[in-house]
Amino acid sequence: MSVVVDAPPSRRIKELEVMVADVLVETPDTSTLVFFTGNDHLEYSAGHFLTIDPHQFEALERFTAFLEDLKGKREPPRAYSMCSAPHERYLAVTVKEEQYMSGATKYPPLLSPMLVKRTVRGMRLVVTGFTGPYIMSPDIESQADHIVHICAGSGSVPNFSMLKYALVSYPRLRHTFIYSNKTWRDVIFRDALTELERRNPDRLRVIHTLTREPDVSLCGPLVRKGRISAAMLQDLVPDLSSCIVYVCGPGISKWDREAAKERGDAPVPRFLESVLADLKTLGVPNARIKRESYG
Ligand SMILES: Cc1cc2nc3c(=O)[nH]c(=O)nc-3n(C[C@H](O)[C@H](O)[C@H](O)COP(=O)(O)OP(=O)(O)OC[C@H]3O[C@@H](n4cnc5c(N)ncnc54)[C@H](O)[C@@H]3O)c2cc1C
Repeated sequence: MSVVVDAPPSRRIKELEVMVADVLVETPDTSTLVFFTGNDHLEYSAGHFLTIDPHQFEALERFTAFLEDLKGKREPPRAYSMCSAPHERYLAVTVKEEQYMSGATKYPPLLSPMLVKRTVRGMRLVVTGFTGPYIMSPDIESQADHIVHICAGSGSVPNFSMLKYALVSYPRLRHTFIYSNKTWRDVIFRDALTELERRNPDRLRVIHTLTREPDVSLCGPLVRKGRISAAMLQDLVPDLSSCIVYVCGPGISKWDREAAKERGDAPVPRFLESVLADLKTLGVPNARIKRESYG
């Protein structure tokens, strides 16, 4: 992973008690939690994440203890990228509910179903933040004039924050935002992205591509069908190798690696690995690719 850190993490990381000011339903399985943070000064960069410890929720106590018994280890805090940007008034995260598929998923997901479906206004929780290497370097305008965002599912969250921040703070940058989802109703920030594009017609182009939508022509003239591929990237961004590319989405998890090892084969590449392979094919230098895996 390319690491750009603009301050020692120790200065930034602290526990904050926040209150849920609003819950915005983005899609059937995804919600944005808007936090009221009082007068605390929030020092974070677009692209950073915070963590939420599941042990703080009384409603999850038995389930957490049961999973810890099954797994034989303590459940760690979960990471959530901020969808809000540093110049905005509220702190917010966007959480997609992890699914349990009988026979395919080893354990039921612990925290995300509760955050998405059972969080209400006024609820208090403790978050720890802020950190992460998936951010823009302050001198990014001297490195490129075109930023390409390649995201899938909730991988759009940190990129949405970086996009909003860059449109305000780095006027020389233009952006192409390529966003893959299963269907049109799975697209997170759909209206907000359309509005940003409308307000910045010379600086932002948003391209949606849908893998399981039967008829993409019903979703709009510019919506594509299928997975992101090298051919699609080359077609959309002819100057790709001079851009800085931010890729975020599902990647091979350590559980996938362990399961593959037990089977005696290699883990199946997911979105992140497949896009990185495409970028390599297209000759994009590794140093110009920033990546974050939600595996
Ligand atoms: C840097 C970063 C930023 C992230 N930002 C976001 C974000 O903005 N929005 C978002 O929605 N998500 C984000 N995520 C993902 C998020 O942190 C959680 O992983 C996700 O919400 C699932 O958590 P969960 O508690 O619901 O599921 P979990 O309980 O963690 O389960 C998830 C999967 O892992 C498997 N699993 C868990 N433990 C084991 C084990 N011991 N052995 C084998 N398999 C196991 C389960 O079977 C299940 O399939 C981010 C992740 C990272 C690393």
